[in-house]
Parts: sequence; C-alpha cells; structure tokens
Amino acid sequence: MDYDIAIIGLGPAGATLARLLNPDLRILALDKKQECGEDGFQKPCGGLLATDAQRSFVRFGVNLPTSVLADPQIFSVKTYDLQTSLIRNYQRTYVNINRHRFDLWLKTLIPANVDVRHDSLCRKIIRQDDGYQIQFTDEGVHHLATAKYVVGADGANSMVRRMLYPEHEIRKYLSIQQWFTDKHPVPFYSCIFDNTVTDCYAWSMSKDGYFIVGGAFPMKNGNQHFENLKTRLLPYSFTFGDVVKTEKCIVLCPSKMSDFRCGQDNAFLIGEAAGFISASSLEGISYAFDSAEILSKIFNDNVSHPNRAYHKNTLKLRLKLFSKIVKAAILTSPFLRKLIMKSNISHVDIITPK
Ligand SMILES: Cc1cc2nc3c(=O)[nH]c(=O)nc-3n(C[C@H](O)[C@H](O)[C@H](O)COP(=O)(O)OP(=O)(O)OC[C@H]3O[C@@H](n4cnc5c(N)ncnc54)[C@H](O)[C@@H]3O)c2cc1C
Repeated sequence: MDYDIAIIGLGPAGATLARLLNPDLRILALDKKQECGEDGFQKPCGGLLATDAQRSFVRFGVNLPTSVLADPQIFSVKTYDLQTSLIRNYQRTYVNINRHRFDLWLKTLIPANVDVRHDSLCRKIIRQDDGYQIQFTDEGVHHLATAKYVVGADGANSMVRRMLYPEHEIRKYLSIQQWFTDKHPVPFYSCIFDNTVTDCYAWSMSKDGYFIVGGAFPMKNGNQHFENLKTRLLPYSFTFGDVVKTEKCIVLCPSKMSDFRCGQDNAFLIGEAAGFISASSLEGISYAFDSAEILSKIFNDNVSHPNRAYHKNTLKLRLKLFSKIVKAAILTSPFLRKLIMKSNISHVDIITPK
C-alpha cells in the first residue's frame, strides 16, 4: 500500500481529520479546491459558525484568525413566518465568517507530513483485496494510489458514499443563494419559513457589504420557488437590487436514523458525506468537526475493528442529529410553528428610539 489512509475532500471534515492524525501514519489527502486564491471550487454556505463548532475550537486549542471573520458580527436572528406574518427575534451567538477563506485557512493547519494534493479531483475508487485503489487527477495528470483505508469527506454529493451505498438516497434539496449589495439600513440575519415555497426553510444574512438570500427548495422547480420567495419577501422591507452572484448546490436533509451512514469495509464517511447535517438548521460544520475528531482517535489508537468502533462512537452524534429531524418536523409544521412563535418564548423585543 502506498498510504495508510486516503482522505477524499478537505472541507471542514477532511481538513480536521488530516490535522488530527498521528504523524507516523502515511496519509494522502485530495481536494478539488485550490491551495490559495479565490479561483476554483468554493462551497456555497451561510458561513455562520454555531456554538457547537466554536466549542470544537476550544477542544482543538485553535483560535480563529480575524482574516476569516466577516463583517459585522450579529447577535440576533429575525424569524419570519410568511404564512402568518409573524416575526420574532431570537438571540444567537453565531460567528459570521467568510466560508471560502475559512476553508482555505483550515487547510493551512494540516501538518507537512500529510501528502496534500490541492486542485486535485478524485475520479474513481476501486475496492481491492487489501485496501483501495484511488484514481485522481492532479494538475491535469492522471495518478493511481493505493491505501488501506479510504475516508469520504467529500460532502453532500459524496462519491465515496455512492460507491459504498449505491442504492441509498438521502432526502436532498436544491440550495440556492443570491448575493446583492446590501442596501438595508441595519445588517441582519433572518430565518424564513413559508410552506408555499419550501417544506424546508430559507435564510438571509449580511456579510462584508453584501446581502445574501438563500433557501433549500424541492429539487423540482427550485428556481421558480426561489423567485417566488424573493417576491413574497418584498412587503417585509427586504431589498434586493442587482444580483452580484448566484450559487447553487445540493444540500442533504436527513429524514430518518438510517440516513446517517458511517461506512464499511475499511471505508469511512465523515461530515456531510455521512449525512451528518442538522435537518432543522442545515448547520453542518460542527458535525464535520465532531465526526473527524471521533475517527481520528480510532485511527490514532490503531483500533482492531475501526468500522465497528466508528459506528459505535458516533452513536451520540447520530442521536443528536436525529433530534434535529424531530425539531425540523415541528418547525416546518405551520400549526406548531405558529403556536411556538405566538407563545413569544425566547423572543427579544427590539427597542426603537422614539
Ligand atoms: C447553502 C448552504 C448554507 C449552509 N450554511 C451553513 C452555515 O451557515 N453553518 C454551518 O455550520 N453549515 C452550513 N451549511 C452546511 C455546511 O456547509 C456543510 O455541512 C459542511 O460544509 C460539511 O463539511 P464537509 O467537510 O463534510 O463537506 P464540504 O464542506 O462539502 O467539503 C467537501 C470537500 O470535498 C472536496 N471534494 C468533493 N468531491 C471531491 C472529489 N471528487 N475529489 C476531490 N475533492 C473533492 C471539495 O473540495 C470540498 O471542499 C450550509 C450548507 C449549504 C448548502
């Protein structure tokens, strides 16, 4: 075997795993993002770091450089129910980041002993008797490598997941985000529910002078639903103007416990490739960190049945994610959502100067 472990994808999950593995392990890490610069693959994302992700940084002993922060930092989320016209403000302690700079920074933390191939596309993975053959293109040149273990950290459309579970489909949505120059008097975050356009949810955020509006829509007619959403937001003082850019990608939204897949046969899934993303908020960076941390301990301890150990050690994580499926069912039910919002629980009144 050329390598002990091949990691496919260096988003938050893969880059964290590559950083936490023992230096005596021989690791190949492939990522289609470029090492630096704004070109190449960029992950469409809200770029909000939730408290669980912040807690991971505490455990990792890693501080966030200001270069990855976005402006401004906002402490509340305005929640809109467009079907009842209810609006509530809830306190949130997200850290507002520039997602692409964040991903590039995470990659710089990977130690030099890891063989990192930037701007490199994994094309095929073939199971062999004693491991895996990985076929990839690096700087336009085709390569073959072999590894005992393969880790799919390749996100929502994971090739590793499709190889391991060709029959299994997770519920997915078309995520669309549009960027505009921010013309609102006060930058804000919002969370938008409207079952006429999606049975998931939509959002907006202010970031570095831009106003980003996005949502997760049914795969069929997703673009039309997005346009309808923007029209329905106009009476609520949302201002759009000219589109600076439009981003689209698939986002997974697990709907049952069996949607979380850990891998098998010395192949492993971490982060969104495993389905580890919150069904209620589509927050996934913290679960990418957590699953990478759990798998790193298993490899570092040279556990004899690593697939079994990983499945067992992610149980708490999977149960937490299951609770998000239940939460999502409540929040996307118009009746229950109305009850919660009407109750005013956790709502913070905004003082407007006279
Ligand atoms: C629109 C949107 C908004 C979101 N907002 C938030 C948010 O505000 N906060 C939050 O916590 N989560 C958010 N999420 C979820 C979050 O982005 C993901 O859960 C998180 O990125 C998962 O991390 P990951 O490392 O598992 O996968 P990814 O971040 O998707 O990383 C996968 C990496 O694999 C690489 N890759 C893929 N295929 C290949 C291949 N064949 N060869 C080589 N490399 C490959 C890519 O370069 C990529 O960097 C959002 C998701 C979407 C779609």
